[in-house]
Amino acid sequence: MINWRCTLCGECCKQYVPLIIPEDVARIAESLHRPMSSFITFYFSDDFAAPLDESYQTQLFQTKHGMLVMGLNRVELPNGEAGCIFVKDNVCSIHAIKPLVCRQYPFRPQDSDNPQGPFRLIDDPCFGKHATDEVVEQDPVRRNYLEFHTKQDQFLAQVKAWNDNPASADKEIEDFLTFVGLRWQ
Ligand code: SF4
Ligand code: SF4
Repeated sequence: MINWRCTLCGECCKQYVPLIIPEDVARIAESLHRPMSSFITFYFSDDFAAPLDESYQTQLFQTKHGMLVMGLNRVELPNGEAGCIFVKDNVCSIHAIKPLVCRQYPFRPQDSDNPQGPFRLIDDPCFGKHATDEVVEQDPVRRNYLEFHTKQDQFLAQVKAWNDNPASADKEIEDFLTFVGLRWQ
């Protein structure tokens, strides 16, 4: 049983930079009628305060500028803090179409080798700002987790194929985007 309730504290949207996958980019751009350049930034791993965890290390793709990952823009919020471009008054302004990595937060399988088994909260969930007065249904949590990881794995296979080609080290970011089915505009 998972006891958890989102308190709309907005911390996850301020503390994390969502590293997103092409399907997220296409869905958000199409739904908002906005070019991807208005909400996407490419980051070096040194841009993050803490080292990227293993699954995000493998999202780094090579270019002539170095190894980069694709994430949502960060902006200065009205109170002076930094946060995701889509957080407004501590709430996600694109909730229905938000990135899959955001949708599956903050849960994980109890046994990471068995996502069909019970789920639990991640370690140190929500920076301690969540509540525990509701019980979370496991099935939607599992669906979100599996959808994210299935699609992230597909993207990671594309990134690996790109990185395995020595010629990619001389390519531009736009070339990588074309390779994964996106267009910079
Ligand atoms: S996309 Fe939405 S849920 Fe994800 S970090 Fe940004 S504001 Fe938060
Ligand atoms: S950190 Fe947790 S409680 Fe706070 S907004 Fe994010 S999901 Fe909700």
